[in-house]
Amino acid sequence: MAENLMDKIVSLSKRRGFIFQSSEIYGGLANTWDYGPYGVELKNNVKRSWWKSVVYERDDIFGMDAAILMHPKVWEASGHVENFFDLKSDCKSCKKRFKAADLKDKKKCPECGGELTESRPFNLMFKTHAGPVEDTTSVVYLRPETAQGMFVNFQNILDTKHPKLPFGIAQIGKAFRNEITPGNFTFRTREFEQMEIEYFVRPDEADKKLEEWIDYRFNWYSNLGIKKDNLRKRQHEKEELAHYAKACTDIEYKFPFVTRGAADDGTWSELEGIANRTDFDLKQHSKYSGRELQFFDDAAKERFYPYIIEPSGGVDRTTLAFLVDAYHEEKVKDDIRVVLRFHKDLAPIKVAVLPLLRNRPEIVGLAKRTAQELKKNFITVYDDTGAIGKLYRRQDEVGTLFCVTVDVQSLEDNQVTVRDRDTMQQDRIGIDKLKEYLSAKLNS
Ligand code: ATP
Repeated sequence: MAENLMDKIVSLSKRRGFIFQSSEIYGGLANTWDYGPYGVELKNNVKRSWWKSVVYERDDIFGMDAAILMHPKVWEASGHVENFFDLKSDCKSCKKRFKAADLKDKKKCPECGGELTESRPFNLMFKTHAGPVEDTTSVVYLRPETAQGMFVNFQNILDTKHPKLPFGIAQIGKAFRNEITPGNFTFRTREFEQMEIEYFVRPDEADKKLEEWIDYRFNWYSNLGIKKDNLRKRQHEKEELAHYAKACTDIEYKFPFVTRGAADDGTWSELEGIANRTDFDLKQHSKYSGRELQFFDDAAKERFYPYIIEPSGGVDRTTLAFLVDAYHEEKVKDDIRVVLRFHKDLAPIKVAVLPLLRNRPEIVGLAKRTAQELKKNFITVYDDTGAIGKLYRRQDEVGTLFCVTVDVQSLEDNQVTVRDRDTMQQDRIGIDKLKEYLSAKLNS
């Protein structure tokens, strides 16, 4: 049933233009995905809602956008060169590579029964060279997380914004990890986007701020419509914590598939981790860069390393959770109606304008003019490529909030029918009142 649901979502994503296999005409690049016309809107809406919630609606967080390529010493300071690896084992016959943790105590290849090599550390960072000479001095990495770009800009933010504690930096951007076991559609890929906050606090306030952030971020998911039964918080056990972290709580979603390393039945999987990273990062970068990255408290005349609370989420994984959670089927007469019940802020398309009769030029003309007018204020599409029933079905399948239908009567009374995606209720509205009507619904 659950796997069936995922098949339906993957197929809908391709059929309607949410997510395509990367380089498909060449047979595809495994576990790599491209976002189509609706997917890019959905993903942008996820990012916009996050940015609004953590930057615009607060006055203690500054946005930034750091480069993907950073000085290689950053990754020595962060511990990634030394510690960011998985133990892996190769099959000597079929050459497949496995994560040692996934093999448990198996001694033979789970795919072909062949002999396995001893497990060896395998760094997850993508390594490349900057410039024409490929030697050790030109090594650069594709960043495996966006966090470090914010730590290394700590002093720049202090110098330009002069914030008091607590304050934070927020960033959305691509990250790359050479994952050994990617999979489950966009859940785990080698190229993905993160949305991260580094929130600097006085050490004695860290525990309290961690709790506040866990609630703040949990509420973001539920306010955007994730069903209560599919969302939970899970505190890490001591032995699960990264070496620098004092505490961490994950916000988890109950996906319709099993992921590696997941808790319980394997379907509850991390969307976001919220950690107390202590003063590890600023101390490390001070040591490796030779720049003192302390905070000077003017009032108390003291200098110290702030602690960092880090809410770190994945854009693609969260977008997938919103897509899965929105999927809804219902029986209408003898048909199955598929609806993506996205929250209004996330729906890729807000309004579709549809002519009831596409062979009547006056109706088509009025519908096109109405769509053009609405485009100034709402993400609107015009569609006349089928009979009205089919047009409605198509809009439901991509989660369009309102369908505006222009019919014969509209030519006389200048009114149109507005159909609500969720209630299916139809209102007759004057074309001159449409903007007001839709604004009230969309901005509520
Ligand atoms: P996991 O245990 O799932 O590998 P992680 O604990 O290593 O994740 P973090 O380093 O905390 O992940 O990264 C923060 C967020 O980035 C995760 O919560 C997840 O949403 C996202 N993320 C991490 N790795 C991937 C990946 N390979 N593909 C897609 N999203 C990812």
